[in-house]
Amino acid sequence: MFAGLFLPPFFAVLSTAQQDMLVVLPNILFMLVIILSHFFKQGRSGFAALLMLVAYNVIQQRLQIPLAVGSTLFEYYFLVLLLPANLVLLLFLPERSLFSFKALSYHVIFIFQGAAFYWFIQPEQLPLVINLLAVIEPWIFVFGDVSVLPNILLGLLICAVLTAAILMLFREVSSDQAYLSALLACTLTVVEFEQQWISVSMFTISAIALLLSILQRSHEQAFIDELTRIPGRRALNIELTQLSGKYCIAMLDIDRFKKFNDTYGHDIGDSVLKMVASQMATVKGKGKVFRYGGEEFTILFKGKLALDCVGHLNEIRELIADYPFQIRQPVERREPQKKGANKTDRCREKFIEKTVKVTISIGVAQGRSSTTNPDEVIIAADKLLYKAKESGRNQVCA
Ligand code: GH3
Ligand code: MG
Ligand code: MG
Repeated sequence: MFAGLFLPPFFAVLSTAQQDMLVVLPNILFMLVIILSHFFKQGRSGFAALLMLVAYNVIQQRLQIPLAVGSTLFEYYFLVLLLPANLVLLLFLPERSLFSFKALSYHVIFIFQGAAFYWFIQPEQLPLVINLLAVIEPWIFVFGDVSVLPNILLGLLICAVLTAAILMLFREVSSDQAYLSALLACTLTVVEFEQQWISVSMFTISAIALLLSILQRSHEQAFIDELTRIPGRRALNIELTQLSGKYCIAMLDIDRFKKFNDTYGHDIGDSVLKMVASQMATVKGKGKVFRYGGEEFTILFKGKLALDCVGHLNEIRELIADYPFQIRQPVERREPQKKGANKTDRCREKFIEKTVKVTISIGVAQGRSSTTNPDEVIIAADKLLYKAKESGRNQVCA
């Protein structure tokens, strides 16, 4: 984002035709983000793009003249206050698709602000605007010659950026990145407002950041398994179409997982899947780990024969078997509450904690891209996995 501060001098030396194209570029990119956000169900990025699109056009249409002329300074303050305020507001509102009925209230808020802006910029409101500026002037302290931005607005902007940054750290809402990038772009633009080409530069970079964030999240939605955060079946299928030379495929399955689910519940079963996936991800020998489906995983080793992988597979099998998996489970209280038991005792009574062992069985088979179909290798690995189960589980069969 900060790179945008250094681009304006390069824009200034371009031909007029190139400069004209650059001015239009953020509009095209923001519209692209809005359309993609609709199809990929990422309304938050769409709203950020919509706000940035409107703000960019206000800057281009209204704020390209000296701020002292007419109501321009007032319009500049309006933008500096409302754009970040809206971006921060949306951070706290639920995710909505930009074109959905549920998002209507958001649109009403934006349209109301737009109408207020339009009313203020009418020539007949100029005396009112000048009076308003005179009223707020004593409250405005501009820090030296660094920027035309009053300190109080700069303070608010920094608070907005910090809010987005803190939210991004403490909650896992990936669209917060989009908001942080938009807020940074508008902060840097208004701080450096006197610099020519700054809005084109910053808003282009912000649009690219929003676009990349949408594409990155769509890629994640398509290829990364939501529960275990490792690549899923679709990613494996693509890898299998691009094999060359020798390779081997290991199929891994958690032992007696159904019983585990029945005993401790589905949520604890999910935690086991996450633990197993994170341990598998440490496999050596350049193995790529995928969730095949349910409690089954696949590891693909390129350029290796099955016997080369057995050692690596045994290593993760042992790692998982030795992992002290802690279970904290509520127990039903059958006995009546003891008299005089304090609150801490009562809470302690409600849970049992214990450590359980989770094991996996593995079947591994090899193939060569010129002679074997990867599906056949998977079937062979599955048969070997079955053999590992029959032979007592918690073992590798190659
Ligand atoms: P085996 O040792 O022969 O593999 O026995 P198993 O019980 O592991 O095999 P089975 O295929 O009968 O059971 C698989 C279980 O995995 C059934 C299902 O409840 C559970 N399972 C599949 N996907 C998930 C999931 O995403 N979360 C949870 N918690 N359980 C899952
Ligand atoms: Mg299974
Ligand atoms: Mg199983």
